[in-house]
Amino acid sequence: MPAADKLPPLRDVIAAHDLAPKKSLGQNFLFDLNLTAKIARAAGAAEGGTFYEVGPGPGGLTRALLGEGADKVIAVERDARCLPALEEIAAAYPGRLQIISDDALELDEAGILPRGSRIAANLPYNVGTAILIKWLTAESWPPVWASLTLMFQKEVAQRITARPGTEHYGRLSVLAQWRCTAKLLFDVNRGAFVPPPSVTSSIVRLEPRAQPLAPCALADLEKITAASFGQRRKMLRQSLKALGGEALAEKAGIDPTARPEDLTIEQFAALARAL
Ligand code: SAM
Repeated sequence: MPAADKLPPLRDVIAAHDLAPKKSLGQNFLFDLNLTAKIARAAGAAEGGTFYEVGPGPGGLTRALLGEGADKVIAVERDARCLPALEEIAAAYPGRLQIISDDALELDEAGILPRGSRIAANLPYNVGTAILIKWLTAESWPPVWASLTLMFQKEVAQRITARPGTEHYGRLSVLAQWRCTAKLLFDVNRGAFVPPPSVTSSIVRLEPRAQPLAPCALADLEKITAASFGQRRKMLRQSLKALGGEALAEKAGIDPTARPEDLTIEQFAALARAL
């Protein structure tokens, strides 16, 4: 059973604060307390510590994180309409919820979060990938956060966690798994949301590697994966033509006739080093 708090049910919170969901802000709210508790547990709330939540909205996941044992939640919400509802949660959990009214894409988490904080979020679909890429491309590594437990559209979750040689393997898989371990934990049916989105969602957990999987410069890795997966059906000697083609592949010790979807992350890093 999820931990109970004395706050009103989320449906009443939405009605009391007139929080009609806005599509432009990717607002699909979760009301199911068993589900929010399951996500909070997957994020490690029971172990305590500080959590960073992007897009708390009316506060379903926020309440679950606090109820399941987080010592502190720092939550950044762009929609000012949600702030009064979040203030009520802060009052129910004194000193444990810090609310930041801002755009998460603009914030520098390193200046806000204590090292070792964990990130948990039901991300807005329209900016979820951009926020993840922002976290994965941080200049200094390992980052300030110790784990990411995030909700995405299932198709994005599959791309983040895909292994070489599979359909969803691409730029996002290489970037994510070069710096993190990535695991798809469970799916969330579209009917769990208000309003229901058009597709199934999934929870993904990423943990930063102490060192990237293989040495290379991030900018070079991005150049290589952009060129390779830009023409994913072509052989490397063709797709990497502008970057050195066959000679580059050979310098990296990779068969120039290989296709990008079959290359391991270590092989992409070797191509980036050869560049
Ligand atoms: N956490 C709530 C839940 O699980 O029910 C709401 C999740 S809803 C999918 C996404 C939330 O992110 C909305 O509350 C939306 O206002 C907020 N949001 C959208 N873009 C944002 C941004 N750039 N920065 C911070 N919050 C944002």
